[in-house]
Amino acid sequence: MSFDPATDTPRPAPWLPSLLRGLRGACPACGKGRMFTGYARLGPSCGTCATALEPHRADDAPMYFTILIVGHIVVPLMLVTEQLYSPADWVHMALWMPLTLALSLAILPRVKGALVGLQWALGVRRND
Ligand SMILES: [Zn+2]
Repeated sequence: MSFDPATDTPRPAPWLPSLLRGLRGACPACGKGRMFTGYARLGPSCGTCATALEPHRADDAPMYFTILIVGHIVVPLMLVTEQLYSPADWVHMALWMPLTLALSLAILPRVKGALVGLQWALGVRRND
């Protein structure tokens, strides 16, 4: 369920297109406006369709999902590398620390956008 920006009344919206639009960092309603004003700072509203974005706060959920996703990528790669090549510890550090950081920075805004898009579609928002 989304909210009509003119009347602020709920209206149903399919969740998958909204989630995918958010994944791209686009407005969950129109898919054209930008969701973020910076790296992952949610804008107050869409510049194209005026859908209010500020009430849809993801809080800590994007970080949890990012850790979950990055952990499921990096840890198996690390274990396979250790089993196949047994590199020195500094090689592990040189490989996995930058990869973990880069993946986290790349994935975090996408996950946040997807979560905000899902919240928008389901009508989950703050009321204060
Ligand atoms: Zn929009």
